[in-house]
Amino acid sequence: MPDVPEKFLKPYDPKAVEASIYKQWEESGYFNPDNLPEQDGEPFTIIMPPPNANGSLHAGHALFVTLQDIMTRFARMQGKKALWLPGADHAGFETQVVYERQLEKEGRSRFEMPPEQLYKEIMEFTLANKSFMEGQLRQLGASCDWSREVFTLDEHVIKTVYSTFTKLNDDGLLYRGSRIVNWCPKHQTSLSNLETERISRTDKLYYLKYGPFTIATARPETKFGDKYVVMHPDDPRYAQYKDGQQLELEWINGPVTATVVKDEAIDPEFGTGVMTITPWHDPIDFAIAERHKLPYEQVIDWRGKLLPIAGEFAGMNIKDARAKIVEKLEAKGLLEKVDEAYAHEVPVCYKCNREIEPQVKAQWFVKMEPLAKRAIEAVKNGEVTILTESHEKILLHWLENIQDWNISRQIVWGIPIPAWQKGEEWKVSVESPGDGWTRDPDTFDTWFSSGQWPFATLGYPDGKDFKKFYPTTVMETGADILFFWVARMLMLGLYRTGTVPFKNVYLHGLVRDAKGQKMSKSKGNVISPLTVSDEYGTDALRMGLVVGNTPGTDLNLDPKKIGAYKKFANKLWNITRFVLAQENTGELKPELVAEFDAMLEDVTKDIEQYRIYMAAEKLYHYVWDRFAAEIIEESKGKPEYGPTLHYILEQSLKALHPFMPFITEEIWQSVGGKKGLIMVEAWPTRHSS
Ligand SMILES: [Zn+2]
Repeated sequence: MPDVPEKFLKPYDPKAVEASIYKQWEESGYFNPDNLPEQDGEPFTIIMPPPNANGSLHAGHALFVTLQDIMTRFARMQGKKALWLPGADHAGFETQVVYERQLEKEGRSRFEMPPEQLYKEIMEFTLANKSFMEGQLRQLGASCDWSREVFTLDEHVIKTVYSTFTKLNDDGLLYRGSRIVNWCPKHQTSLSNLETERISRTDKLYYLKYGPFTIATARPETKFGDKYVVMHPDDPRYAQYKDGQQLELEWINGPVTATVVKDEAIDPEFGTGVMTITPWHDPIDFAIAERHKLPYEQVIDWRGKLLPIAGEFAGMNIKDARAKIVEKLEAKGLLEKVDEAYAHEVPVCYKCNREIEPQVKAQWFVKMEPLAKRAIEAVKNGEVTILTESHEKILLHWLENIQDWNISRQIVWGIPIPAWQKGEEWKVSVESPGDGWTRDPDTFDTWFSSGQWPFATLGYPDGKDFKKFYPTTVMETGADILFFWVARMLMLGLYRTGTVPFKNVYLHGLVRDAKGQKMSKSKGNVISPLTVSDEYGTDALRMGLVVGNTPGTDLNLDPKKIGAYKKFANKLWNITRFVLAQENTGELKPELVAEFDAMLEDVTKDIEQYRIYMAAEKLYHYVWDRFAAEIIEESKGKPEYGPTLHYILEQSLKALHPFMPFITEEIWQSVGGKKGLIMVEAWPTRHSS
């Protein structure tokens, strides 16, 4: 009987081998498709969603690493030029928020720091996190091409982003406008609609006397400057008032002249069917003011305090002022009644949950409709396939109702906007246009640059990678950033290159805890993938993340389940010990070979059609329930089974490699005196004898 290597006499110990195996892979150079032996293999490309370089990798990262690594390793074994291009994201607002929290703990504030100092500190923080994170990606087995890694603040990326901004300007798709924006009073920046959340709340609704009318408002503190009273033109209750008619009336701080405006946007069913407008602090009122060309004035400052227009209340925080204003209205006999339980929704900052204060601010906006139109076409005519159908519908609905995109942010940590101001005049230019021009102090919404990631990373327009690897094969990312990222990559990719940036979109759901709850620090139920990988081995973690995980749906990550895959790894180890002890001479058993080959064809099809969860499960069951429990049992004491056992083991190792790369590589080195890495073995096909 052949000698079995000594290592198989002890249980499999992932911790002892994983780091050195990763090192072998990395040193082989095969993560780089240029070094792969198959010279004319067709290109296969995944651009990694660059993790935010502001903390540790979480379970969601581990999931995308696993899925993308499986796809990449599979393609590589199929002889394709497999490129998985890694990146790191400076993550603008996200990272600045993390850093601000750290500053707060140290008793410092970004508002008391020179912007250059803040930028320098955040850069150091980000670069330290970036290299930490790269180590974690290696621990998870990512077979990405580190030689091509791109950081979102790399010079060539910024150059691409600037050329897109300039092109949008040249094409008339960019404008600077004073428009209503979502302002976070804590973070002191405007936010896109996607960066706000709507929460349900119950507030008081105040009915106030406004001359002969009664108006309803939940925010009396915004009402100081209200001089226009608006009603639906067909509302019979107010037929006697004519558009443009002026009325003298008593208001919070004294007499005002009010003007009647008739507008069809008014809902006669809401409150009394009459409202006064506060265009500076309400998007609907702003739209009415724009339509009728009415003037407007700021009432609340950028930090949430009342301005001089509020008279005696000026300087007060709006939260403290409301009760006092209502008191005064009541004393003046202007408070008619209070509805105590007014249920409505208010927008809040998605990071700090502070109520968004709508403000009018001059910002850069991108006209999105023409960009969305082309993206809709691309989805509808199949240039890009979105897994699953329901996500395709959601994406199309969003694109069909798209709004212009505010891409200016009042934060330091980001790519500075290449625009200059002189008096009222603005110029888009990377260099200063000359004397007297000052640079826009704002930076881009981080998603404006991320939206250009696939072509920016590949060196658009002239890079040889761009020519070879674009459009990419598949974009695999979280369903939660379908609008933030996928939609924008699609629109901007089509706009700049004329081609979709990816042919397929695979969206994964959230990774939840074992009970199906969302992981959060405050609940204390966060499962760190790195800790799990230390305890059970990376292969077990990877199996736990993919088995049962259908695209687009959430996954409950149960450490018990991962423990079961650790046992599976050990099973594979023990199978190997048994098989290596058998002679490998003689004939194969055709029916067992045919059965294996059929299973493998099925698995191959599953991976090709992105049913990775199914492929993983089928391999697991075959190896455990069929190969170990039945075939090996049956073979005991029958040496004629030897070659068949060797055949099934070797083919199974190759098929399992994309899913469980470490143990399969570790075993491969001992199977039949094989030379080379299993990572670049050919994907098994039907046995041809
Ligand atoms: Zn905020």
